[in-house]
Amino acid sequence: MQILNLELRSDTFTKPTKAMLEAMFNANVGDDVFEEDASTKDLEQQAAAMFGYEAGLFCMSGTMANQIAIKIHTHPGDEVICDALSHIYLYEGGGIATNSLVSVQLINGDRGRISAEQVAENIKVDNVHYPITRLVSLENTVNKGGGCIYDMQEIQKIKNVCTTNNLKLHLDGARIFNALVATKEQPRKYGELFDTISVCLSKGLGTPMGSVLLGTKEFIHAARRVRKRLGGGWRQSGYLAAAGIYALNNHINRLAEDHTRAKELATIFSALPEVKHILPVDTNIVIFELEERLLSQDFVNSLMEKGIKTSPFGKHQVRLVTHLDFGDAELEAVRQILK
Ligand SMILES: *Cc1c(COP(=O)(O)O)cnc(C)c1O
Repeated sequence: MQILNLELRSDTFTKPTKAMLEAMFNANVGDDVFEEDASTKDLEQQAAAMFGYEAGLFCMSGTMANQIAIKIHTHPGDEVICDALSHIYLYEGGGIATNSLVSVQLINGDRGRISAEQVAENIKVDNVHYPITRLVSLENTVNKGGGCIYDMQEIQKIKNVCTTNNLKLHLDGARIFNALVATKEQPRKYGELFDTISVCLSKGLGTPMGSVLLGTKEFIHAARRVRKRLGGGWRQSGYLAAAGIYALNNHINRLAEDHTRAKELATIFSALPEVKHILPVDTNIVIFELEERLLSQDFVNSLMEKGIKTSPFGKHQVRLVTHLDFGDAELEAVRQILK
């Protein structure tokens, strides 16, 4: 019998497919610090064109791409407005403080999504007591909000508030492709609204590593220097860029399957007596709340003993994420195990 890997901890666990590895073998590489790596340039241009930006910068992680953007958009002592559940605030090692010396105005939004009204209310007036509000950062989809999607009209309103108040608008688009597939929106629409976007290739798109930061030529020129300073100048990055190009060409539309399987998982788990409440499933993330007497770590351990790998996500919350390596056979196995 085939041994299945029931990996639901994250969509970062995927391994390159044979076809992706072949594309990597065929990369056209050079030294990217000298800007001579053709595959890396191709990836940057392809991603930029897709979203309607002038330029792109291939970075080794989404964290690096976000942190570079924050650094360039702000000066020490400035302030960034974001939701309290944001990855840039919760999961980037305090990088906003250490890399950029910038303070954060947190907002308690709706599952990680802030509104234009909340942004407007939190912009500081010009007064020596306050930091200077300089940047608004959104996340789409929201990881900690269970993969939920921003309403495009709200983003447009936030953009208007930013324009009026001379603020930059950044998108942590680690899972932007999940949002695009679910809503059928055009990526160029995002390019029109955000000054900069970071997109992950190693989440749902299934590459071994890497994110692309997108913006104007001038911004990307500055970003290249910050990336270098962070130790992120790399050499024959084209092998990884080739995986990224392959993923952009072949792995976007299939995300719809991950969304369907996530919904199925939600149905399966909602039938368990331990599960009290499941967040609505909009894309590839399922977050559920356990009955109060149960700790997520214990529940995760008991699933692990049955061969199902999940993540504790807070004291009573558990997260499941579907991806490229979790197919129908894996879904069926989970169904049978939990019956
Ligand atoms: C994964 C992720 C990132 C980037 O993470 P890296 O592990 O640094 O690539 C950024 N934002 C969100 C919402 C993420 O889920």
